[in-house]
Amino acid sequence: MPKKHVPEPSLIFENSRPGRVGCNLPVADTPEVDLAALLGDLRPELDLPEVGELDLMRHFVNLSHINYGIETGFYPLGSCTMKYNPRVNEAAAAFTGFSKLHPMQPTETIPGALEILIGVQEMLQEITAFDHITLQPVAGAHGEMTCLMLIKAYHESRGETARDLVLVPDSAHGTNPASAARCGYDVRSIPTDAEGNTDLASLEKVLSGDVGSRVAALMLTNPSTLGLFEPHVQKVCEMIHRAGGQVFCDGANMNAMVGTTRPAEHGFDCMHLNLHKTFSTPHGGGGPGCGAIGLGEHLAAFMPSPVVRRENGKIIVDEDRPRSIGRVSPYFGQFLMEVRAYTYLRAFGKEHIADISRHAVLNANYVQARLKDVLPPAHDRTCMHECILTAEKYKREHGVRALDISKRLIDYGFHPPTNYFPLIVPECMMIEPTETESKETLDAFCDAMRSILREAVEQPDLLHNAPSTQIVGRLDETAAVKNLDVRWRKPKHVEAAAADGAGGRGFAVAEGIEDMRADSLPSAR
Ligand SMILES: *Cc1c(COP(=O)(O)O)cnc(C)c1O
Repeated sequence: MPKKHVPEPSLIFENSRPGRVGCNLPVADTPEVDLAALLGDLRPELDLPEVGELDLMRHFVNLSHINYGIETGFYPLGSCTMKYNPRVNEAAAAFTGFSKLHPMQPTETIPGALEILIGVQEMLQEITAFDHITLQPVAGAHGEMTCLMLIKAYHESRGETARDLVLVPDSAHGTNPASAARCGYDVRSIPTDAEGNTDLASLEKVLSGDVGSRVAALMLTNPSTLGLFEPHVQKVCEMIHRAGGQVFCDGANMNAMVGTTRPAEHGFDCMHLNLHKTFSTPHGGGGPGCGAIGLGEHLAAFMPSPVVRRENGKIIVDEDRPRSIGRVSPYFGQFLMEVRAYTYLRAFGKEHIADISRHAVLNANYVQARLKDVLPPAHDRTCMHECILTAEKYKREHGVRALDISKRLIDYGFHPPTNYFPLIVPECMMIEPTETESKETLDAFCDAMRSILREAVEQPDLLHNAPSTQIVGRLDETAAVKNLDVRWRKPKHVEAAAADGAGGRGFAVAEGIEDMRADSLPSAR
């Protein structure tokens, strides 16, 4: 059943009283300064709330209850791998010996931190089979770009400067063509065949045609964003190599392969990993990430400097790299992300690391099997860590779109899956349960989906009007992202009440939605 979830807005927004103070400042031990004389009067629009400490605390705790996160419920956002981040990771990252390091500290004073960096590098080397790893890139897209910079440097070192084209399958994540364009490459899209694999005939045609000699690289996501393992991956790599190009693996979907199969052995020249997906470190909202990359020996000379490596048992920070592409980030990357990834990897250990991918793939196939008759997979195959389902028939027959189904899921207490990606699947719903969810949670989610799909047939407006249980209704998501505005402002109904002498305060979440919020507040109904 849908869950009602409307925090009491008057508690959150309307408790200010003139002169009320929520903190005790210590007696000043410095001379008092008249700020107004120094800076001019405070801006009158800075109408700050005046509340007691308890009210303030409730305000923030109530706000936190409006949020949804992996720690409050199931979060099957496909391609993003929103897995649980074990608490022990945070405990390790909080050790003052790590968290209080200064990034400019001389390297001889940070042997423990370097040991962590090397430890992560060595474990990732083993997991991917690449000769080298660097942890400098701070996001997946950053790792993609760094790999393409290595590939560019490699071609240039061989005098192959006419290679200015990067091939990208049409199922790829948008960051792939963006990274290629950022490195100055032209991008050519490669179609997907009826089974969901790279269309080898089309690829062959491009490689043997006019532009074949211009190909610098192919960016292949494996498993693809269709949640499918590319069965011809070795063949694809061979074809590109024969044409003189390099093959990059988008490894954001590594959760399907950890401990089970190793990308360098498939023929890739380099890859990126999203530590903030596969290795549990939290991400989202632009938080810290790590887009570690792996590469073959032939690209090693160009690696970002400095290179941290072990030589005769001693850790060396090697800055003497004349052919390096240079730094791609300050210092050593996002160090505390590496501490979390290290902790996560060591907690599994070599014996259990394959459980990650085995359980992730099992969970995704379980969801696919339980929903198949009501929401068919885009390709009827064993999926990897995520299943890609299509709601096309609900759009055709009942005017209900994937987005409507997702919004209704919010009423049932679940975070929606990814929608409309990959772009080539109509009314796409991309569900990635990850390995950490129990069968009970997966069943509850599948039951909710089946119930919603019955509603789609019988009462489609329930879906069109969803969500109906939240503090806001359906937002203009583009406006909310592009014009985010969290300034406090009086909602219209409060203003009206103020005109009647009642007073009140409120916060707008994004430009243009305060009207909608006002409408959805119980007090406005
Ligand atoms: C998440 C993702 C990326 C980009 O990673 P960011 O850290 O968000 O830059 C690239 N490719 C795929 C398939 C992804 O899922």
